[in-house]
Amino acid sequence: MSTMQKSDAASFAVAATRSTPAHMMGTYARADLVFERGEGAWLYTVDGRKFLDFGSGIAVNSLGHANPKLVAALHEQAQKLWHVSNVYRIGEGESLADKLCALTFADRVFFTNSGAEALECAIKTARKYHHASGHPERYRLITFEGAFHGRTLATIAAGGQAKYLEGFGPAMPGFDQVPVGDRKALEAAIGPETAGILVEPIQGEGGVRSISNEDLRYFREICDKNGLLLVLDEVQTGVGRTGKLFAHEWAGIAPDIMAVAKGIGGGFPVGACLATEEAAKGMVPGTHGSTYGGNPLAMAVAGAVIDEVGTPEFLARVREVSRDLNQRLAELKASHPDIVEDIRGSGLLIGIKCKVPNTEFVAAGREAGILTVGAGDNVVRLLPPLNIGETEIREAYERLDKACAALEKKLGAA
Ligand SMILES: *Cc1c(COP(=O)(O)O)cnc(C)c1O
Repeated sequence: MSTMQKSDAASFAVAATRSTPAHMMGTYARADLVFERGEGAWLYTVDGRKFLDFGSGIAVNSLGHANPKLVAALHEQAQKLWHVSNVYRIGEGESLADKLCALTFADRVFFTNSGAEALECAIKTARKYHHASGHPERYRLITFEGAFHGRTLATIAAGGQAKYLEGFGPAMPGFDQVPVGDRKALEAAIGPETAGILVEPIQGEGGVRSISNEDLRYFREICDKNGLLLVLDEVQTGVGRTGKLFAHEWAGIAPDIMAVAKGIGGGFPVGACLATEEAAKGMVPGTHGSTYGGNPLAMAVAGAVIDEVGTPEFLARVREVSRDLNQRLAELKASHPDIVEDIRGSGLLIGIKCKVPNTEFVAAGREAGILTVGAGDNVVRLLPPLNIGETEIREAYERLDKACAALEKKLGAA
């Protein structure tokens, strides 16, 4: 049940009856749905409708809505301490950093409030490393076409997508973009000013396009050969999403620096930049900071997420559920060949490449009671909570099947 006070509930209900938001900046093309509460993989609107949430925000609610363990962690911390400045030690953050470093390649962590901020820290850490190594001229990062790294001025420059850069003045310098899979272009882009390679193991926003394990291993080699840093953006692929704690583990490599966010907070805003001791050597007192980054509330919730997701049993279960869901999706493709072109992705980061416009697929899914997320390359993403089971897989299949049937009917009528 909602725990809102009556007056809040009343003003919320008034806002929810409007057909469009009156005073929100118009940056989003929002679906006209107002949710009141969630439970596991289910979301409930103010007008009593129920949706199966296979978007999880966008890969954020890794343990579903209102997960009792996360609610308890937040509640417990909320009664003790909300905020202290980073001029003091924050125990909850130190404990989470210990956990993350025990589970990964990393020795050092900087906590942020979002993915883009984690990327900002990763980019600054990479540049500062070379500065501290006596090479201040090495500040450029090689990035990839179709990438998405966030919406700050530096991260839109890193992503290099015209649609996000347009109208915001000159792009921030320091990024050289090459096509995915083009080793010649990559090697040609390496120069005396190159600091490293920045890459998502699977391009999420770009359309669930995987970088092959061979390419990831090749990036590691080329970085080692040229004294470059390998910087991974695991904001979407990390924290169990692909069935390993981090996607790069599938390739058997480790980065020097890694940006994490989305799933690590399970819905509480938190991000992290992880680095090796060596890569983080330039990040000394005064070089970086954040008022809210590493806030005790965020640290307590993220700690509870990592306790749950960071076990071999949990990750094995994600891989198992992924196999079952992919089996059903293969059936979906076979029975709707005019709608579904292909199924791609890894773990529970799944892309349905559509033959109809992906916006229509997402809308038809909504009509059928399942929430999905669009992506580039005419793909629809399925990003369910990592702890779904047989019931949710069956319900998802039934709803997607219904959505595909409705789309077919529309095609037939056209
Ligand atoms: C979402 C995302 C970001 C940006 O995260 P925000 O929390 O929205 O700033 C960066 N990189 C990738 C790969 C993402 O999916």
